[in-house]
Amino acid sequence: MSREFIPAAKPIIGDEERAAVDAVLASGMVVQGPQVAAFEEEFSTQVVAGAHCVAVNSGTSAQHLATLASNLKAEGGAPEVIVPSFTFAATGNSVAITGAKPVFADIDPVTFTLDPASVEAAITDNTVAIEVVHLYGLPANMDAIMELAARHHLAVFEDCAQAHGAAINGKPVGTFGAWGSFSFYPTKNMTTLEGGIVSTSDAELARRVRLLRNQGMEKQYANELVGLNNRMTDVAAAVGRVQLKKLDGWTEARRANAAALDAGLADVPGVITPHVPDGYRHVYHQYTIRLEGATAAERDAAQSALREEWQVGSGVYYPIPNHRLDSLAPYAPDLELPNTELVARECLSLPVHPSLSQADLDRIVQAVDAVVKAGA
Ligand SMILES: *Cc1c(COP(=O)(O)O)cnc(C)c1O
Repeated sequence: MSREFIPAAKPIIGDEERAAVDAVLASGMVVQGPQVAAFEEEFSTQVVAGAHCVAVNSGTSAQHLATLASNLKAEGGAPEVIVPSFTFAATGNSVAITGAKPVFADIDPVTFTLDPASVEAAITDNTVAIEVVHLYGLPANMDAIMELAARHHLAVFEDCAQAHGAAINGKPVGTFGAWGSFSFYPTKNMTTLEGGIVSTSDAELARRVRLLRNQGMEKQYANELVGLNNRMTDVAAAVGRVQLKKLDGWTEARRANAAALDAGLADVPGVITPHVPDGYRHVYHQYTIRLEGATAAERDAAQSALREEWQVGSGVYYPIPNHRLDSLAPYAPDLELPNTELVARECLSLPVHPSLSQADLDRIVQAVDAVVKAGA
């Protein structure tokens, strides 16, 4: 039987986006201009409760510039920012590239986000900030993190690259800490092709990010700071404005798909489905299960079987914890993060994107059930 392959992710870019791009190209004004300004305003209102927003050319640039704009300093040496190791490398990279030191803490294996006790244990005299990642679209444990940060006089930064619209008791991510950074890479919950945005309630920090993205100048040729060119184009912003109109519907579709997978996988032995704490709004950038007790090789075999036998795509985010990458390991010699290692072996992200049909969802459930039972 030939079955259509179900991809792990499927960016949706349609006629309306193409028309918006065409209109910008036809206008002849393609670099940062009115589309970017409108996109920033609309994103601010719709996603981050009116916070200041500064659009840039990637999610990584958003966190890089926001980190630079935070003017981190420690008396005893390089300022330290505590980050999870179980995340995309951009989190630690954007800290390290500023000259600060990423210090890796462990995660809670149930929520996949920073474990406050591990964060607290990593605090030193040089710690200046905690950067949480709202991984897979689930907000980090912000009650505990904000309390901890206040007690130790630390700033909180939020990597919201996977979490557009996620919230805790109605309060959106990107509004808890000093700043939040979002990504609009094609596989994220919405896209501008490449792109990112910084959200902050601090007008002065927003101004510094605006300067940094444009050679340090607000007034042309009157450069105030040493800056970069990390501007978003009006072409990208026009795509983002169309996507923003669809974001809420897509998020509801992701949440409904996740609920169907939860129900279908509830009784499959050895499969741990995502846990959502009370009051937390998960936006399911990924729907990530754990294959309890699996080795990395067993997990990889399950992934191959899903693909080969069932034509079901899946992803492993992330197979190598950041503190063991060649690039970032020098910041963390001899570090042991047991929950991070455990989850890196067991995690498998199933398709949850808005384009799935009921038949797709049924096949994903059937496939996981069969593959896990065959491997047991
Ligand atoms: C995608 C992503 C980023 C980086 O965003 P880019 O737009 O790809 O630069 C940062 N952090 C996390 C957790 C991400 O998933």
